[in-house]
Amino acid sequence: MVLDSETVRSSAACDYLGKELQCSCGRTHSVGVKRVIIESGALDDLPSVIRELGHTSAFVVADTNTYAAAGSRVESLLRKAGLADGILIYRRQGDLVPDERAIGEFFVAVHRPDVIVAVGAGVINDLAKYVGSRLSIPVIIVATAPSMDGFASDSSALILDNLKTSVEVQTVEAIVADVDVLRAAPIEMIRAGMGDMFGKYTALKDWMLGHIVTGEYYCEGVAEMVAYSVEKCIRSTSGLASRDAEAIRNLMEGLVLSGIAMSFVGNSRPASGAEHHISHYWENAFLQLNRAAVLHGTKVGIGTVVVSRIGTALASRAVDFEAARRDAVAFDAARWRSDVERLFGTAAPGIIRHSEEANRNSIDERLHRIDILEREWERIAQVLSTPPSAGQVESLMAAVGAPLRPMDIGVDNGMVEGGVMYAKEIRPRYTVLQLASDLGLLEEFARKAGSEK
Ligand SMILES: [Zn+2]
Ligand SMILES: [Zn+2]
Repeated sequence: MVLDSETVRSSAACDYLGKELQCSCGRTHSVGVKRVIIESGALDDLPSVIRELGHTSAFVVADTNTYAAAGSRVESLLRKAGLADGILIYRRQGDLVPDERAIGEFFVAVHRPDVIVAVGAGVINDLAKYVGSRLSIPVIIVATAPSMDGFASDSSALILDNLKTSVEVQTVEAIVADVDVLRAAPIEMIRAGMGDMFGKYTALKDWMLGHIVTGEYYCEGVAEMVAYSVEKCIRSTSGLASRDAEAIRNLMEGLVLSGIAMSFVGNSRPASGAEHHISHYWENAFLQLNRAAVLHGTKVGIGTVVVSRIGTALASRAVDFEAARRDAVAFDAARWRSDVERLFGTAAPGIIRHSEEANRNSIDERLHRIDILEREWERIAQVLSTPPSAGQVESLMAAVGAPLRPMDIGVDNGMVEGGVMYAKEIRPRYTVLQLASDLGLLEEFARKAGSEK
């Protein structure tokens, strides 16, 4: 199988499983997920999926919400099939947080089952993939909401030492997504799934920018796959409010495809850029303030609006490269450091260390990048002005009823400004924020974003 436009356009998520894809990027892509079932009534197939994968005992993990959504049915199905081997139901007053406490509870409860059956979406998925990887036990996810794209990805988002941390893990062995269960998910979670997908628009542009400016690896086939997965989701927009089965199926399929694309590359680059970094920045800010978390995809959607505006503004900007060089030479390392310490709190030492190790504030390297930016500006402006524009992203989000403004989720102007200014410190990846910083324009954009209503 070859990963080209034709394959991308004609393949469903399950068509990519168990194959090695030859790619024009020079790599061979494959994914560890063995089965994907997205259909009405899929839950009934769970025992046979477990058996087909060669397992005879299954440990179930859920929280009280996901147990009510599908966990109790999973439990009785496994019992009837003689596969049940224990269950952990997380009980919390507020939201379940994927932190050391939750990980510890998991390790205490689980023994040596053949497989872990994780019933849930984001948090349960992250916890099960992590614990499964540590114990070398495969994981099957029974999805309860189409709320994020991590089902097929090979990373876990955890909160360790009160910090949002991404850990490399094994992919799940199978994804069982019963459309009847997904349809009953809270509407905010369905909207969040769309928000996570809208983020691909800016993530893909950022990946291309990284390729142009730093020569980073880029795969056209995978980028096309992600773009197509977004298209799949957009097609479901009109049916989401009424929880139309076909619309929900398309959304889930798009989310799984996007996760497979990440697995193909071995990191989240094709599906996560500045909009995710801003979302992580806000998440950390909320953690430092002990505020309740906001759904990942909800934040990412709003981050996409903020980032799209910057990209759209940059595309039509008459850039003064000499001014950019003067700004580069005048870099104030002491101010950078004190800002990072003030804004990141307990996360600051790690960020400063990583930045120093990679020499990320090097003036010479920035001057070198400015040369490339000047030479390649036409191409870069073209990437930035590729549809959708900021306005189009907002219309798409409004169409699904997703929150659009940072203030809608309690992110104040200072957090918006700080996010635009310093989210680039979170991951060492070239994005539109690093681009604006190289050009000496980031502060201006940050102030503008912070003052927008
Ligand atoms: Zn490739
Ligand atoms: Zn995401």
